[in-house]
Amino acid sequence: MTPTTPEPRPEGLYPGWTPAPRSVVVTGAASGIGRATAELFAERGVGVVAVDHDEWSLKEIARLDRVVPLVGDVSTEAANRKAVALAVEEFGGLDAVVLNAGIGGTRPFEAPGAVEAAERILSVNLRGPVLGIRAAAPVLREGGGGSIVVTASVAGLRADPGNWAYNASKGAVINLVRAAAIDYAVQGIRVNALAPGLTWTRINEGVRQNPAFAAEIERRIPLQRFGEPREQAEVVWFLTSPAASYVTGTTLVADGGLDASLGVLPL
Ligand code: NAD
Repeated sequence: MTPTTPEPRPEGLYPGWTPAPRSVVVTGAASGIGRATAELFAERGVGVVAVDHDEWSLKEIARLDRVVPLVGDVSTEAANRKAVALAVEEFGGLDAVVLNAGIGGTRPFEAPGAVEAAERILSVNLRGPVLGIRAAAPVLREGGGGSIVVTASVAGLRADPGNWAYNASKGAVINLVRAAAIDYAVQGIRVNALAPGLTWTRINEGVRQNPAFAAEIERRIPLQRFGEPREQAEVVWFLTSPAASYVTGTTLVADGGLDASLGVLPL
């Protein structure tokens, strides 16, 4: 018998499939993973609304073609709504959002101010994505569907020492993404999380300043190195692309094998 190839499905006729994004909102876009994501999308012809509360750093990314900056705090409803409205105004619609802004700053459980610090972490890392989903979903739905990516962390899958509030916020994000994915699936909106491992950004500047410590950590990562922001951006690109049309409610881990390893001994 002659082997037959399956009939290609007509594009756009099944839930989850949307064309490659033409416009995207990226939060935390002034630095690190968010900045690399904004750059990569803009290079590939996508209109980007770049949101960050760091006005000074945002100026650099705003010099790129197709990037519109928005100074705002993602823990506020106003900033999230404004970002979505700006995408519609500037690019005629919205196809994807990358809810990436995040902070650390956990204090030990019994330290003074630990609860207040945890509340700030949760307001950016968890409340931020909740507000982002609420603002973007109606516009994505109106456009026939779309994609939401939230930056979680391997620290949401396992706990690292002394980092309980950040660990809790990222664990919550992973289950938020599952919940949003099932609620929005019938509307053609896919929702996924990116879980980066250790990546060279401002967050790890302290480690970079201490080469001996950095080398010690790298020996415990199966790929023997930190990741680059651009490598995380490529995963976001995939998750928002038609290639991921059947991917929703999941967490894509990009960590050089860290989460797969017992991690106790240097390799
Ligand atoms: P980064 O500090 O380089 O970038 C974070 C950006 O978010 C900054 O530009 C900052 O100004 C912005 N931001 C913070 N709070 C904000 C707020 N309330 N409103 C608007 N913007 C705000 O760090 P990064 O490593 O690129 O972090 C990006 C995401 O990746 C975060 O969610 C972080 O938790 C996650 N992550 C990073 C790593 C890593 O090793 N770098 C690992 C796992 C997860």
